Amino acid sequence: MARQGTVLIVEDEEAIRELVAFHLETAGFRVQQAADGEEGLRLALEASPDLVVLDLMLPGLDGVSVLRALRRQSRVPVVMLTARTEEADRVRGLELGADDYVGKPFSPRELVARIRAVLRRTDPPTERLAAGGVEIDISAHRCFVEGLERELTLTEFGLLQALMERPGQVLTREMLLERVWGYDYYGDARTVDVHVRHLREKVEVEPSHPRLIETVRGVGYRFAP
Ligand code: CA
Repeated sequence: MARQGTVLIVEDEEAIRELVAFHLETAGFRVQQAADGEEGLRLALEASPDLVVLDLMLPGLDGVSVLRALRRQSRVPVVMLTARTEEADRVRGLELGADDYVGKPFSPRELVARIRAVLRRTDPPTERLAAGGVEIDISAHRCFVEGLERELTLTEFGLLQALMERPGQVLTREMLLERVWGYDYYGDARTVDVHVRHLREKVEVEPSHPRLIETVRGVGYRFAP
């Protein structure tokens, strides 16, 4: 597997966060970090990580509350970090849909191994997405509209994939920038508009009256087949 994926670490203790981040980056993952529950929940929902490492003991919104809120909207795999004294919370976490837990103190290598195991178990790669007459083959990087192949650039393909993965959901320009151009890209949000315009010319029957990729004024875009 070429791409290891992106892991969001939600942990208020900076030393632990940095340690986990270091080991994950060394293992080839991209890392996002949040120092409290609110920020962790926001990033988990908006930044599309492949997996969340969630400490249970957090100031403010604690880990169990983050998990409960997250599971209302997302199936992203979650590995909890728990202290020995938090056994009741650990059980609650698993009941709420966490995929695994690692007890503190933990070996970072063990955590990385657990993360890999959870990703293997929970992430059978989605090869194809199809809706509204559009079909994309993700591994082969091909796009078909009503059965006819359309040549998309990498960026256009990334945009279409991001939108098709969440049909009916509005994605902001910032979310699309983060998703398609990368977490560290600080570009102009209008870049997104330009590429969406090109994408529409390739997949919409009438690009000036788009029926697939809707503009949600002042917010962003939505795939609404
Ligand atoms: Ca903590």
